[in-house]
Amino acid sequence: YVPLAQLDPEVQELVDRETWRQFSGLELIASENLTSLAALEANGSIFTNKYSEGLPGARYYGGNEYVDELEILCQKRALEAFSADPTKWGVNVQPYSGSTANFAAFTALINPQDRLMGLGLPDGGHLTHGYYTAKKKISASSIYFQSFPYQVKKDTGYIDYDLLAANAKLFKPRAIVCGASAYPRDWDYKRLRQIADGEGAYLLCDMAHISGLVAAGAQNNPFEYCDVVTTTTHKTLRGPRAGLIFFRKDKEADMESRINNAVFPACQGGPHNHTIAAIAVTLKLANTPEFKAYARAVIENAQTMAKFLHDKGYKLQTDGTENHLILWDLRPLGLTGSKVEKLCDMAGITINKNAVAGDVSAQTPGGVRLGLACLTSRSMHKDDILRVASFLDRAVQLALDAQKAAGSKKLVDFVAAVSSSPGVTQLAKEV
Ligand code: PLP
Repeated sequence: YVPLAQLDPEVQELVDRETWRQFSGLELIASENLTSLAALEANGSIFTNKYSEGLPGARYYGGNEYVDELEILCQKRALEAFSADPTKWGVNVQPYSGSTANFAAFTALINPQDRLMGLGLPDGGHLTHGYYTAKKKISASSIYFQSFPYQVKKDTGYIDYDLLAANAKLFKPRAIVCGASAYPRDWDYKRLRQIADGEGAYLLCDMAHISGLVAAGAQNNPFEYCDVVTTTTHKTLRGPRAGLIFFRKDKEADMESRINNAVFPACQGGPHNHTIAAIAVTLKLANTPEFKAYARAVIENAQTMAKFLHDKGYKLQTDGTENHLILWDLRPLGLTGSKVEKLCDMAGITINKNAVAGDVSAQTPGGVRLGLACLTSRSMHKDDILRVASFLDRAVQLALDAQKAAGSKKLVDFVAAVSSSPGVTQLAKEV
């Protein structure tokens, strides 16, 4: 055994620098979190060496007695974490990521060229919910299926369920996908179920962003109404990078085999057993009172930050939040999301540019997305969050100054102005 630092100092150096970046700065990316050291340990474990195509008890390789135990343990914990009755629900814990989980779920539920409806990407939906542009089919979910997006209301930023119902009547989807990457409000699963039933469509929830909050009982429960529920495990759930697919096995007799076959062999090869080990650890933690308190604190912190920004007169989509994220509409200030993201990066605050309701392009979006999962994992509470919110307020004011000083709308001129701004240097020091 030669330690990494000795064997490959270049990689070790990058690990060290990334560690410093993650902990010296303020991480506000809504899709990220800081996983537990125990999950990191499991993720780096010797399970990475093992091939185990198939399912527990039915593998294509020998030597899987411990992998089988591990996968069964992970499945059991997954159902427990979401209070899913094992007589009604099953779970596949093998998806490599949220994207592959979604594609496997579509593969199981519908046929090539069947119709699906998901929340549009510029409205907060994810790429894998059928995203395409006027010029191009971008996601495999729009290449292999016919997709028609639903939207949020341009004036309020809330999902337009009435329009979805009307369009579903015309489009007749075989599947409706709910769940989002940038939607600050909870979901009306009951209404979605009614809409889906009206067209005989499956209802699939991709709860990737909010699954930690769902596990804690701090959001509406998609398991009550949906046929299939997918999630990533690395966002609010605070685990390794992977995906899960939950399926109702009491409704259609072959749902279990359809989902399992869609994951392997249709979409994937051998499971990443080291990741499954880390998911199992994560789910054990998700089932504790400490995690439930954490999830509630994430929402409180997001609401504290949203209120601060709203009280300062900034425009937030839907005027606030009910989950872990905030969508900040910068268009009334004449700023783009790219500029504010760039300035924040230079000050050690990590956020991402994001489309807000009414944006025509996802490439030059008019807002930024803020997520509170990481800062809450670092035990930040109200006073800390107010301080971070005041940094963001300053960052936006500095961006306005830099835009004026740049004398043009170009990003390069803006970056040059930010680089010579003493205000930004001072902000970076305080961060
Ligand atoms: N689903 C949603 C709602 C997401 O926000 C994301 C990623 O951010 C994904 C799926 C894809 O997950 P992954 O990046 O693990 O493929």
